[in-house]
Amino acid sequence: MRFVLCTTLVVLSFLPATQSAPVPVIDSHQHLFSPAAAALVTGNPNAPGINARNLIELLDSAGIQRALVLSMAYTWGKASRAPVANEHEYVKAENDWTALQVAQYPDRLRAFCSFNPLKPYALEELARCSKDPQLHYGLKLHFGNSDVDLDNPNDVEKVKKVFEAANGYHMPIVVHLHTSIDNKRKYGADQARVFLNKLLAAAPDVPVQIAHLAGSGGYDSATDSALGVFTDAIARHDARVKNVWFDATVVVRPAMSPNDLQQIAARIRQIGVERVLYGSDAPASPLVYPKAGWAEFQRLPLATVELLVVATNIPPYMRDFAKR
Ligand SMILES: [Zn+2]
Repeated sequence: MRFVLCTTLVVLSFLPATQSAPVPVIDSHQHLFSPAAAALVTGNPNAPGINARNLIELLDSAGIQRALVLSMAYTWGKASRAPVANEHEYVKAENDWTALQVAQYPDRLRAFCSFNPLKPYALEELARCSKDPQLHYGLKLHFGNSDVDLDNPNDVEKVKKVFEAANGYHMPIVVHLHTSIDNKRKYGADQARVFLNKLLAAAPDVPVQIAHLAGSGGYDSATDSALGVFTDAIARHDARVKNVWFDATVVVRPAMSPNDLQQIAARIRQIGVERVLYGSDAPASPLVYPKAGWAEFQRLPLATVELLVVATNIPPYMRDFAKR
């Protein structure tokens, strides 16, 4: 017993200073899966899904108070999966299931509505969400899953209409900007510029949260060039990025080299730590549970004070919980 205690003290005394950083007040990138969506995504008809109680337990074990839950409804319109009959009905059902789940924890969870923005029902679903007491808080779009091709002007035009409408409803937007890997779409600075010029410009009055530091989890050169478009815009005080936040969800991966960690930290400083949000992503494996995800994020060579800022950032759409 004495030996165990002694060993613990020795280990504690060698922990890096970053271990004393607080836990995030918000997990800004979470998902729930209805049993139906889990069955669709995993191919296992008995997949249990992830409900609000499951998420709350994981948040509690990490000491995180609140989470932004991004509806998975868009996956019913996933471009690289066989189409589902009556797709819009499933999209509505997933958005509504997510709304009912978060409603069980009104002081902890908030949901954003979602759908594939290229689908004919996109504007109708956005209008429906804008009137829903749980779903009107914002919109999540996943350009990769929905195969929004930023090099295709028709796609850009359709998504622009969704951005304009969300702006009109005062609904903030979380966007997974990275284009489809399954469909091998181009992604980098050119595509990020299309987003800045055509889409961000179409939603000037609402906050926009760019997920995964403009990547799709992990960090590679395509992500870095896309992110560079935004850090350049921030450096020149471009009005279009005034309302833009970045979540660093699953950006830091276990096998990452010290060089990659340095580069990510440098980009976070160019963005400004006050605009960077912590997110965990769906708790589909213990590696990305909120507690593990925050431990991973703290491997970045950031000062404790910088980690403190990221941990305590609260984007506008995660405020005012008490009023509900
Ligand atoms: Zn996600």
